[in-house]
Amino acid sequence: IADRLLASVARPYHIQGIYLHVTASMGITLSDGDIEQPTQLIQQADLAMYKAKQEGRNNYQWYTNDLNLRLRERVHLRNELQKAIETEAFELYFQPKIEGCSGQVIGLEALLRWQHPQMGFISPATFVPIAEDTGQIIPLSQWVLETACRQLRDLLQQGIAAPSVAVNISTVQFRRINFVKSVQSALQKYQLKSEHLEIEITENVLFDNTEKAIEKLQRLKELGVNISIDDFGTGFSSLSYLKELPIDTVKIDRSFVQEINTDSRDAAITQGIISMAHHLRLNVVAEGVETEQQFKFLQQSNCDQYQGYYFAKPMPFEALKQYLMDEAARELP
Ligand code: C2E
Ligand code: CA
Ligand code: CA
Ligand code: CA
Repeated sequence: IADRLLASVARPYHIQGIYLHVTASMGITLSDGDIEQPTQLIQQADLAMYKAKQEGRNNYQWYTNDLNLRLRERVHLRNELQKAIETEAFELYFQPKIEGCSGQVIGLEALLRWQHPQMGFISPATFVPIAEDTGQIIPLSQWVLETACRQLRDLLQQGIAAPSVAVNISTVQFRRINFVKSVQSALQKYQLKSEHLEIEITENVLFDNTEKAIEKLQRLKELGVNISIDDFGTGFSSLSYLKELPIDTVKIDRSFVQEINTDSRDAAITQGIISMAHHLRLNVVAEGVETEQQFKFLQQSNCDQYQGYYFAKPMPFEALKQYLMDEAARELP
């Protein structure tokens, strides 16, 4: 019945010489006897309808208890996120990027951390997508950008030799009309040079409006900010776009590095990426390097820079200070 209903709604209407196409999304629920109020049934059907819309519209979904739970969790997390944004309950951790030949720290990546008073540590992989859906990513990203700049300024002011800091940029943030301006303002506010800041974007920023995205990257480049493509190799975009982009670095996704010593396909992809990037005069960073064997293999494959637990885990600001001071001492003869 549901399919027939959908089909009949989807038939074009001919109104005053124009064909109108309308589709419907349906949510269906059945009373299991536990229902006390008719409005409960309507609420359940409503939840299922939202799921149907999410799944691309013009279809139907059944209500399930699991759906209810997941949606409640999301709403809860969204509310908690709102409180956390208002009270700035976040922290940045920093993970070093290591140069292959010298072993020197040549960069840092800022990673967002949220320690919830009751729920404990919540991964950015969980809450960043929610914040992107709700738009909360905008104030959150602004906080990340400013905090990364401020903390780097603090390090430099304390005479600690600190390399540049890379900030992860959400696609939602990147697409904002004043994104480049916000980068520029953050640099100015903390009196940093543009070489101090690096941004990491994913291929997704190119999806909707590739030309506009390239133009934005160009403007960032003109500012002097370094640009990396994160999670490289996991997107679906064509490789040919690489030569059009004003970028400096590609980061090989952790998923390829993980089994590089045991899966010859991962090894082949990694070596392919490195060789192609070098031909395009791009720098290559391998992420998620956990073992000496992985490092050795990447080194033999001419990878330029490394990040991963084998070298250093992401650490809070105070630990980073100590780490950088120890590194500076180690490098002196
Ligand atoms: P990403 O940008 O690809 O960051 C790398 C992730 O790998 C980080 O996870 C890092 O802690 C982890 N990692 C680093 N070395 C290793 C290793 O050797 N082994 C393993 N297993 N993992 C390693 P994290 O911090 O949980 O972040 C997850 C994702 O959340 C990030 O992936 C990024 O996409 C997003 N994210 C984190 N911070 C921010 C932020 O400030 N803004 C935005 N928009 N996204 C962020
Ligand atoms: Ca990253
Ligand atoms: Ca990555
Ligand atoms: Ca990732």
